[in-house]
Amino acid sequence: MDAIELIARRRDGKRQSKEELRAIAFGAASGSIPDYQLAAWLMAAYLNPLTDDETADLTVAMAESGALLDLSRLPQPTLDKHSTGGVGDKTTIVLLPLLTACGVTMVKMSGPGLGITGGTVDKLQSIPGFRMDLSTHEMEQQAARIGIAITGQTPDLAPADKALYALRDVTATVGSVPLIVSSILCKKLAGGSKNVVIDLKCGCGGFMPDLEHARELALALMATSGRIGLNLRIAITDMDQPLGVAAGNALEVKEAIATLRGVGPPRFAEHCLTLASLGLMAVGKASSDEEGRRIADEAIRSGRALQKAQEWVLAQGGDGRIFADEDWLRAPIRAVVPVNGEAGAVARVSARIVGQAVVDLGGGRKRKGDSIDPRVGIRTLIEVGSRVAPGQPLFEVHAADEASAREAADALREAVFVGQGPVGPVHPLLEVIGG
Ligand code: URA
Repeated sequence: MDAIELIARRRDGKRQSKEELRAIAFGAASGSIPDYQLAAWLMAAYLNPLTDDETADLTVAMAESGALLDLSRLPQPTLDKHSTGGVGDKTTIVLLPLLTACGVTMVKMSGPGLGITGGTVDKLQSIPGFRMDLSTHEMEQQAARIGIAITGQTPDLAPADKALYALRDVTATVGSVPLIVSSILCKKLAGGSKNVVIDLKCGCGGFMPDLEHARELALALMATSGRIGLNLRIAITDMDQPLGVAAGNALEVKEAIATLRGVGPPRFAEHCLTLASLGLMAVGKASSDEEGRRIADEAIRSGRALQKAQEWVLAQGGDGRIFADEDWLRAPIRAVVPVNGEAGAVARVSARIVGQAVVDLGGGRKRKGDSIDPRVGIRTLIEVGSRVAPGQPLFEVHAADEASAREAADALREAVFVGQGPVGPVHPLLEVIGG
């Protein structure tokens, strides 16, 4: 198929056939369509958005441009969980063992973090020895044995997305909703699980800036998932303030372990129960949110979720001592940032500023390939709605040296706004779509 013709048809707003969209996806994956022509097609697709049917066809073609995992031999049901990424988002590390302890097989591929939203790969790799390079065969074997497996993104999974995403990033076309939908869902399709829960983050530290845009993306994801045979549930969740207390790789793993023990920060624990319940409903293990929460809560209280996490860490080569010693990978410097104004109620804690401060401490990447320091991070000790008094600690900075700790403290003073009016807490769940 002639690439110029493919671009011209998109430019002119003509309906593109399954074969045409397949030619784009396979041409991107193989490199047979050069970047300049793919970039032109992407801009045409940005200006003349794909219809729901076209989005579904492109999604399937992008998934089929690489390997497709076959989970049919694993104990059923299986579930995949995806987050659009947020500051302090360690939910996957809780949900995988929690849902496995409830009888669900969890198989997941995760990408490394870039920018202010850290990646699950980096968080888990802060555990000494933890392997994120399981082969497809190892994933299947481990999931069959203990019900849970995670690996980093393999290059043979949805290679069309890799090529197209890299071009979208540099051609101002990332924001096209149909292109976002196909990019997210092709990886879910290739991952092999029919049941998927998506945590769509909304706010200054997340992928979608406000509820209106988050809702638009959620509805588009639902429209496509129905056409390609995925059973999708979406939680739109708050990402204006950091999720939980900890942001930074090892600190987040510690918080995930505390949550599995039943002693995590209440707002984060509530968020985990919401998503666990959605997952249980998606696979038919719960018929209501109330029942899903009860099942998940019982898995935590009984210690089964924590036990599953220990099994999982050991199976992937991680050092099991992290469950006994809270001081593993401790950063050399700890500094506290106090309230230096009047007493009042916290009206804003900017997830964006906290996330950027973690990156600047060395806990995240500014550029692809940067190395990260897993020890550093920030613990946010207040949340929107907290009452504070002068001198009270707002943040605890974990840094590699005094200078970076001071810089983080300066930045964090701008992250919090304390007002005099009454402010209530913000529930982490904004809306559920699907089901
Ligand atoms: N996440 C993805 O995987 N792709 C996008 O296009 C946006 C978010």
